[in-house]
Amino acid sequence: MQYPNAAFEKHQGLGMTSQRTRNRLVDRLVEKGVSSSNVLEVMRIVPRHLFLDEAMASRSYEDTALPIGYGQTISQPWVVAKMTQWLLDTSQPINRVLEIGTGSGYQTAILSLLVDEVFSVERIQPLSERAMGVLQTLELDNIQFSLSDGHWGWPDKAPFDAIISAASPAELPQELINQLKMGGRLVMPIGETKQLLYGFEKTPNGIIETCLGEVMFVPMKEGIEA
Ligand code: SAH
Repeated sequence: MQYPNAAFEKHQGLGMTSQRTRNRLVDRLVEKGVSSSNVLEVMRIVPRHLFLDEAMASRSYEDTALPIGYGQTISQPWVVAKMTQWLLDTSQPINRVLEIGTGSGYQTAILSLLVDEVFSVERIQPLSERAMGVLQTLELDNIQFSLSDGHWGWPDKAPFDAIISAASPAELPQELINQLKMGGRLVMPIGETKQLLYGFEKTPNGIIETCLGEVMFVPMKEGIEA
């Protein structure tokens, strides 16, 4: 894949944030079993260092979650790849995607290059604003943001072809299933102390549930924080 616009070219980085370092991360993702060429190509070009504080930039392409302030973390690249790959691995087109937990905006950028429209919800205002700024810098203009509690999805914009959450509730919020189109997919962690990553597919015969393994995400909290 080419850089999608001149802003990506401008922010491709140097040394520990260079294209070569991103290529090494992608090699590791392949070793760990990520196979979707679309997902790998997008992860090859999104400058993860832009979504982190400068002090953390040299660690941007380690395959780990890292702090982004306000007690939250940018998701681990392997987890981003795995969730995105599962979400898009369906025969029907995925055009409209709801993301819960904008955080740094990294997963949002990945989605924005793979689908037509992204609707991203975050409950912590300064994080939402910072992510909006970075995504604007990258000239990604198919994203809408909302400061709200993702337990309720985004009713005005529903239904969605797919929903992804980077925050873990104690149990599956039924509202998210309601806002999914028939045939649509939802991927999210569920659980408090022990979390499991689940994929749900909405079919005419009910919900098909797939467990995708043990994970560690931040909890899905109630309400918003200004
Ligand atoms: N994909 C993001 C993950 C950030 S961590 C990234 O890679 O940067 C998860 C985010 O979910 C945090 O920013 C947290 O504030 C947010 N979150 C937690 N509960 C939420 C809720 N109920 N509604 C919306 N966002 C929520």
